[in-house]
Amino acid sequence: SEQLLEVRDLRVVYESDEETVHAVNGISFSIGKQETLGLVGETGAGKTTTALSILRLLPDRIGKITSGSITYRGEDLLAKTPAQMRKIRGESIAMIFQDPMTSLNPVLTVGDQILEALELHNDEGKSKEELDRRVEEMLELVSIPAVRKKDYPHQFSGGMKQRVVIAMALACNPGLLIADEPTTALDVTIQAQVLAMIGELKEKLETSMLLITHDLGVVAQTCDKVAIMYAGEIIEYGSVEDIFGDRPHHPYTVGLFGSIPDLTVDTDRLKPIAGLMPDPTDLPEGCKFHPRCPHCQEQCKTTRPPVIEKDGHLIQCHLFAKEEEAGV
Ligand code: SF4
Repeated sequence: SEQLLEVRDLRVVYESDEETVHAVNGISFSIGKQETLGLVGETGAGKTTTALSILRLLPDRIGKITSGSITYRGEDLLAKTPAQMRKIRGESIAMIFQDPMTSLNPVLTVGDQILEALELHNDEGKSKEELDRRVEEMLELVSIPAVRKKDYPHQFSGGMKQRVVIAMALACNPGLLIADEPTTALDVTIQAQVLAMIGELKEKLETSMLLITHDLGVVAQTCDKVAIMYAGEIIEYGSVEDIFGDRPHHPYTVGLFGSIPDLTVDTDRLKPIAGLMPDPTDLPEGCKFHPRCPHCQEQCKTTRPPVIEKDGHLIQCHLFAKEEEAGV
């Protein structure tokens, strides 16, 4: 199938005089048309850095893409000028952040903010009336009455604010929506509503999505494919069925689930795993999970495990390499 977004061997560091943080360490994945990929992992696994790299929004001077490629509809995003990227952001690729106030301006009405997003990308020279109609249409699409376009963000609840942000993000009909923990800051009851809404709109507008989350329940509900990140690497990748099914899994994934749940069971937040994520300024040799892995062997401490594929299900672990050799 034709891929919308392709990330190949991406490496990203944050550099200061004192240290180099190895945030993303050679990840590859792709997202097809209308597909949703869930990027799962603990805080510090490199999920947000991955998203910011795609949008070329890494912090100036400190954040650096040191290798790899990112292509969107076959175009090399890393070769774009800042002006070209500003056009791509919002128009082709839009992002929703965890806290709606990151995206909303407290002194502008929500209508004016959606309008601003539309005006920024109004290449077809649509009239003010057409744009106004689109603002109202977008609000209604997220179940906010059009008359409320004259209200300011503080007049909305948290869930409604995030819905305004969704309306803003989707106003220009982007091909790809990146949602970074879009419901984490909301009440549990509101989370499900907002998530369901994102899913519906994604279908309706035929948008692809990269969903960053630490919530496996959200992944099971929303995603087609799943990439599990650890210490800046994708250690397991597969369809939702692969990840939630009874196939063998990477020891880290097994740890995340506690025990492997199935799709019909309400899966909870990530289970804490004994030990800490490694220091990204001083990553361990070999498998980066080895200090925490119950199956660690000698070679795990020295050699980076190969990625083993079985029917599109990828696992980066020496245990699976051994099985392959043995012809299992
Ligand atoms: Fe554990 Fe070794 Fe597999 Fe890493 S490569 S997850 S340490 S068994």
